[in-house]
Amino acid sequence: MPATIRADKCILCGACLVACPVHAIVRKTVYEVMEERCTDCGRCINYCIAGAIEEQSN
Ligand code: SF4
Ligand code: SF4
Repeated sequence: MPATIRADKCILCGACLVACPVHAIVRKTVYEVMEERCTDCGRCINYCIAGAIEEQSN
């Protein structure tokens, strides 16, 4: 399932934005994953030092 960013944990560092190979992460008022672009590679999850990115469970 696509990754999802928890706004309550995100410290707005931008690391995930840079790490995503398919540019599926965008910054609005918070960072968001564009689900239609996400290939579920898991890379952003490993880059997030705040543990704010989770794989959706459904
Ligand atoms: S799981 Fe991969 S493709 Fe999806 S947002 Fe994270 S880095 Fe990008
Ligand atoms: S890497 Fe984590 S803390 Fe940094 S902007 Fe992305 S979700 Fe937020």
